[in-house]
Order: sequence, then structure tokens, then C-alpha cells
Amino acid sequence: MGQRKPMIAGNWKMNLSISEAVALVRTLVEEVGRIEASDILVAPSFTCLAPVREVLNGSKIALGAQNMHWEDSGAFTGEVSGKMLMEVGCTHVILGHSERRHIFGETDLIIDKKVKKASELGLTPILCIGETLEEREAGKTVEVLKNQLSGSLASFLSRRSVPQHLIVAYEPVWAIGTGKTASPQQAQEAHEFVRRWMAENFDEKSASGIRILYGGSVKPDNIASLMAEADIDGALVGGASLKAESFLGIIRYDA
Ligand code: PEP
Repeated sequence: MGQRKPMIAGNWKMNLSISEAVALVRTLVEEVGRIEASDILVAPSFTCLAPVREVLNGSKIALGAQNMHWEDSGAFTGEVSGKMLMEVGCTHVILGHSERRHIFGETDLIIDKKVKKASELGLTPILCIGETLEEREAGKTVEVLKNQLSGSLASFLSRRSVPQHLIVAYEPVWAIGTGKTASPQQAQEAHEFVRRWMAENFDEKSASGIRILYGGSVKPDNIASLMAEADIDGALVGGASLKAESFLGIIRYDA
């Protein structure tokens, strides 16, 4: 893992009421609010951002959102801008999650605009990529990852410069919420490919500094073997981040 600080991020999706989110984050602050070994991030629903931020204040746990629009303001009913997210205390934003791509039809073109806007604002984008089971079984994993990377980072490719704070999350769609985890070797192969792609399309320094998280049914009992791989720098956790016990078990993977 070298110079890259591990990150454990919880994506709460459309789950938890305000009181549930606040209770969960209170426990996290008490238990791991001062942890130095890893960066910890929670990404609650939009309505929970402000109350969660109040509890996080003064702790080392970062606040992220699960999506944003690429414009600052305007006639975009139902959307939330990156500027608004920053106003509420977000430092990170998850972009291009497979649920956004597959359920809400987000394309690489849209994701590129969002990644560009987030980094202009100083919000750290967590760009999600990953293949479906059908694509993996057809031997298309690398091709899919390559297309998602070049499409979702198109604005940066044309300038041959990538934001140094960019975080990539490799999340095989077949492993999300299914209980099926990619084996550490399968995940490492994909992460290694992503890092090589970054080096070939940007530069070695950026490639070796960018954190690549794994996501897909991460649990307390599989995190350590994933983290042992050279190019796995952390985890983006869905289901297991909704309960203090399992999320803390993941955060303390090396304890
Ligand atoms: C996710 O949705 O980002 C995710 C990885 O979910 P889960 O951990 O539940 O598979």
C-alpha cells in the first residue's frame, strides 16, 4: 500500500432515518472518531447530511454525499449541486455508482461532467466503476473498466492531467449487495489494471498516489484479506456500514 493512506467509506444509500443515522454516527465518533491509521468517511442520504455533520464536528470522520449535479444552481428540479453539498459540510462525493448507472441511466458523459465539477469545487470525487456478471463471464472486464475510465474521466484525459485527490472505487456489480465478494486476487487484478491505466494515460506519480477502493459485499471477515493486496487501498462499504458493529469490525480490520 506504500504511501497511500487506507480509506474505509460507508455508503448508506437510501437507508436510515435521521435519528438512526445520528445514533450510528455517534457510536462511530466515540469508537473511531480520532483514528489516524485510516481515513473514515460516511455518505448518508441528503436529508441526513446536516444532522450527521453536527455529530461529526471535531472528529476525523469525513462526510460525503452519494451524488450531485454538475451545475451550481438553476432549474434542475430534484437535484442537489456540489456547492450545496460543500455548504452542508461534505468533502467527498460518490459519483457513477452502479445503481446510478443502471437504475437511473447515468452515462459516462454525465459522470465526467460531475467529476469535473466536483474537482473544480474542491470536493473529492469517489468515482465508481465495475463490470456486470455477464460482462465478466464474457471476458470483457478489462474492456468495460477501460471504457468507464476513459468516458468518466474524458475531460481530464484531453488535458492529460488527473486530480491528485481523485479516489476510484472498483465495485463489480455482481458483488454489490449480493453477498458474493470478489476474491482478493480478482480484485487485485482489477485494481492493478486501473493503476496501470492511470500511469499510461496520466503519469506514474498520479497513478501511484491515487487510492483505489474495493466495494462489493465487504464484511469484517473478508476485509483483511482484501487489504493485504498491493493495490487495494480501502473499501467502499454498503450493507455492512449500516450497523455500528459490522462497520467498526471493517474499520478495525488490522486491530
Ligand atoms: C455499494 O453499494 O457501494 C456496496 C459496495 O454495497 P455492499 O457493500 O452492500 O455490497
